[in-house]
Amino acid sequence: MVAGAGNYRCGQGLAAERIKARHMAIERTLSIIKPDATRRNLTGKINAKFEEAGLRIVAQKRIFLSLAQAQKFYEVHKDRPFFGELTEFMASEPVVVQVLEGEGAIAKNREVMGATNPANADDGTIRKEFALSVGENSVHGSDAPETAAEEIAYFFSGLELVG
Ligand code: ADP
Ligand code: MG
Repeated sequence: MVAGAGNYRCGQGLAAERIKARHMAIERTLSIIKPDATRRNLTGKINAKFEEAGLRIVAQKRIFLSLAQAQKFYEVHKDRPFFGELTEFMASEPVVVQVLEGEGAIAKNREVMGATNPANADDGTIRKEFALSVGENSVHGSDAPETAAEEIAYFFSGLELVG
């Protein structure tokens, strides 16, 4: 009797947790502040855009990618005509790699970044305000949950993610 009542309460609690999880959908995404932006000292201004949008920076480090590391990261684009230009650019100067966390973080980050080509980016987006060209477009952001998980694991260990 007592156990049954307990189970009932427990079941209700679980259902409430599931509903909350569905509505919250807290995600993590991999972001990179690219060399054109680190060179122009824009890290703080770009981070302010993320934070204003409700994204939390739960991991961050400044690194200098080797060409091989940039090529591995952008492997998906290896057959595109801009692959050489893109990977040499990414390995040309330091980048800031970071993990952003928040409700719908993957899509929200893409929204804050703006379109790949700054000429097509909406007002107020990072690329509209800061990007120099379609190649030197200031930021990278993961495009889906699977790529976000892979890209986060490429740069960070679990111990480095502090939510
Ligand atoms: P996004 O970064 O918006 O997800 P893509 O995944 O299509 O864009 O491309 C990866 C990166 O390759 C872009 O951010 C940009 O730096 C570079 N890039 C994409 N298209 C071009 C292009 N036409 N010419 C030069 N560089 C490009
Ligand atoms: Mg992409």
